[in-house]
Amino acid sequence: MRWNFASNAKTLAALEGYLSSGRFPHALLLCGEDGTGKGALALRIAMALCCTAPVADRPCGVCSHCYKILHGIHPDLSVYGEAKGTRSFHVEQIRQLIEDLYIRPNEASCRVFILKNCENLTDSAANALLKALEEPPASTFFILTAPSKDKLLPTILSRVTAFTLLPPSIEEALPYIQKASGCDEPAARNAAGLFGGNIGKAVAFLTDESLQKKYQQSQEIFKALGDKNPASLSLALLPFEKQERTELTSFLDLLVEELGRILHSQMTGGEDPGIPGFAPSDYNRARQIILDTADRLRRNASITPALSLMAAKLRSI
Ligand SMILES: [Zn+2]
Repeated sequence: MRWNFASNAKTLAALEGYLSSGRFPHALLLCGEDGTGKGALALRIAMALCCTAPVADRPCGVCSHCYKILHGIHPDLSVYGEAKGTRSFHVEQIRQLIEDLYIRPNEASCRVFILKNCENLTDSAANALLKALEEPPASTFFILTAPSKDKLLPTILSRVTAFTLLPPSIEEALPYIQKASGCDEPAARNAAGLFGGNIGKAVAFLTDESLQKKYQQSQEIFKALGDKNPASLSLALLPFEKQERTELTSFLDLLVEELGRILHSQMTGGEDPGIPGFAPSDYNRARQIILDTADRLRRNASITPALSLMAAKLRSI
């Protein structure tokens, strides 16, 4: 199988260089926005480190190590930081990791620790992790993931070898999207275009009807934002007053992300028609207003007044 990973040739070549030299860095950091395959590549790296095939064929995808890692049952692979949410990666988990660290490899020749969503590490968790990164036991490898380097403390960054994963071109992404979603080429191409080649997001969109509905709703909100009639936006937001708080905040996060995507498309001559009458700075103002609202709702503000205030501020753009 080797990497079975779209684009990012330089990163893959560097990993192959480390494997063939026998000097694999003891701590890697994979950065990239959601959907760029950080988790998938971290697993393949773990497979390559444990795999018993000749070095040039690793990861082979079929030896017992590769098989067990792919199926989440390898005793020498530990995964931490699965929870999402700001500061959700607590020091207790790192303490457990440190205890776990000194157990010798069970089946493979090394042990691999994948630490996901490291942007969520609390300060005390990050400081505890530093010690583990400084003096790891022999044959131990760490693979950290985060959306970008600037989400991590400089002291952590100085102890890892970092790579940034980029979405592939639409043509490169197509076969991966079709295989993972089971959709035909036109649907895969449409989703690839919508998400700028981001495979994870395109596949999630194609396979999750509730997500498709959310994107449709976001388009309705943006249409109301560009509408001259001041009542349009309040009307478009009305159904959201009855939503669960967590569902509503995740929808607001999606609006912020979509505004960023539309702005990027506008600035780079992309196909998105944008919001009528919106200048580039207006997208950023709208993003900030929605971000602030999501923040207030997470701190238990009442939903109806928070949405009314958001609508009033958005109308004043
Ligand atoms: Zn293998």
